[in-house]
Amino acid sequence: MSSSTMPVLFLGHGSPMNALASNAVTQKMAELGRVLPVPKVILMISAHWMTSGTWVTSMQSPKTIHDFYGFPQELFAVQYPAPGSPTLANTLTSLVQDPVIGADSTEWGLDHGTWSVLKHMYPEAHVPVVQLSLDLSKPPEFHFELGKKLQVLREQGVLIMGSGNIVHNLRRISWQTDARPYDWAVEFDEWVKTQAIHRNFKALTNDAVKFEAGKLSIPTWEHYLPLLYILGAAREADDLKFDIEDLQNASISMRSLRFG
Ligand code: ZN
Repeated sequence: MSSSTMPVLFLGHGSPMNALASNAVTQKMAELGRVLPVPKVILMISAHWMTSGTWVTSMQSPKTIHDFYGFPQELFAVQYPAPGSPTLANTLTSLVQDPVIGADSTEWGLDHGTWSVLKHMYPEAHVPVVQLSLDLSKPPEFHFELGKKLQVLREQGVLIMGSGNIVHNLRRISWQTDARPYDWAVEFDEWVKTQAIHRNFKALTNDAVKFEAGKLSIPTWEHYLPLLYILGAAREADDLKFDIEDLQNASISMRSLRFG
């Protein structure tokens, strides 16, 4: 594999408060920002941009979106002024014909799924960022297949990132960050790790909610789906690393996967 091929990365973002925190997880994110080859541009699939159809942000200066309630003012004051990349947005809309990807030049921007992790990885906000939305009307296979179509961008200096959480159950959450994780959360997190090591992407795409631990870990799909884009964009020759392995708030997995 060419040394100019970018890795692909899935990160757990967890509570928006991680954006302001300095803990074992956020320190690892900062370290990733230092050790990965500096991308020309980041293509981010965030759990928090859910749309009808698939969209890409195409504005020159995406706004920072504070898409949460009930958090301290400090968090609403965070700005992440990374530039956008109309060029990458154009590349994407012509690269992928099925599905048709719409260019959004006015509505979205950078949501907290994006900036809460990039604030640690690239605190200077100097790398341009483009977001790709999640069409929640589509089945898991759709998202995996779309991830495959993005693979070629890895040769063009694009860092494809997913930001969600493998285990994400807010109904069972503990507000204590280091609360003991539920057994089912540990079980599902380990299951994902094992399937990923064996490159059993079919199981990760199709079987995740076929057992109780998966059902409890994925009560809704949006935080899991960004992982499927990363699996799609991975190649057989890629090394797999789990830079971050942690569970926060009893029901949130912060596990990361890095291919390549
Ligand atoms: Zn989230």
